[in-house]
Amino acid sequence: RQEQYLKLRDVPAVTKDGAKINLQLNAGLLVDLPHLDDTGACGIGLFRTELQFMISERMPTATEQQALYSAVVAAAGDLPVTFRTLDIGGDKILPYMQAVEEENPALGWRAIRIGLDRPGLLRMQIRALLKAASGRALKIMFPMVATCDEFVRAKALVEREKVHLSRHGYPLPADLKLGAMLEVPSLLFQLKEICTVADFLSIGSNDLMQFLFAIDRENRRVADRFDPLSGPMLRALQRVVDKASATDCELTVCGEIGGRPLEAMALIGLGFRSLSMAPTSIGPVKAMLLALDADRVGALIRDELERDGGGDSLRPILARFAKQH
Ligand code: PEP
Ligand code: MG
Repeated sequence: RQEQYLKLRDVPAVTKDGAKINLQLNAGLLVDLPHLDDTGACGIGLFRTELQFMISERMPTATEQQALYSAVVAAAGDLPVTFRTLDIGGDKILPYMQAVEEENPALGWRAIRIGLDRPGLLRMQIRALLKAASGRALKIMFPMVATCDEFVRAKALVEREKVHLSRHGYPLPADLKLGAMLEVPSLLFQLKEICTVADFLSIGSNDLMQFLFAIDRENRRVADRFDPLSGPMLRALQRVVDKASATDCELTVCGEIGGRPLEAMALIGLGFRSLSMAPTSIGPVKAMLLALDADRVGALIRDELERDGGGDSLRPILARFAKQH
């Protein structure tokens, strides 16, 4: 199997009916970087910067942060990298940060909420990213954005750091794109506004599922209770892809569903053209899409959602389609 996938490394990711799919990988540590080469991925669609913080015994210094980001940018060469700013809190605890007692940590003080309340921390990270990508292209995205205003405030922090660095004579990135993760359902109802201020959106399907269905993703009793291939989630995804396509806002899915072949088939059918996933998923997803008629599966899903968008899973129908084609 692995060997068969290895052979696909240099095969362009194009569906049978000609849709070009951008397959990128999710990473978070230096050890992940060789996968860029061995999978033939088109870039890093999600670099989880919190991992460096989580494995460290103390807060990584600005220099240490910059060193990691520089190494990532260097390894990627001409390929794009999307760095996600610190996504801590919830289930991701830093041992050296004072623990806050929270009744519902997943709904608590986390991710961009911490970043905006402790701008010193976020600005240090942004500065390290800007320096690491000096003269090159850089993409930064913010986790757990719930309102457009949060994104605008984070963007203002980036602007401030750019001015600060320029004033001190540092060359800035040659190109800078800022994006929001779409993983809090409230953003589904601000799509027009967020697409106007953000350069790109990246769907965090793990958290979007958690918050859409109110199921703790870490709680085995409920985590798999609802299917992402059921009406509510597929309709949410359809809404995003339809609205984003009408604007210049780039769109990626970087949650786990993009790395599962049947789910990836549904995403491509709905119109997604960029997926970021664990390195081991690239081969299986590419093998699937090379045999896929995207328009056909798209029509099937849209018909089904039109007919009955209730809680029923489309998994059996999609599995049948996959088998027949
Ligand atoms: C997600 O929520 O889907 C996501 C990509 O982020 P994480 O899994 O790191 O929360
Ligand atoms: Mg998330």
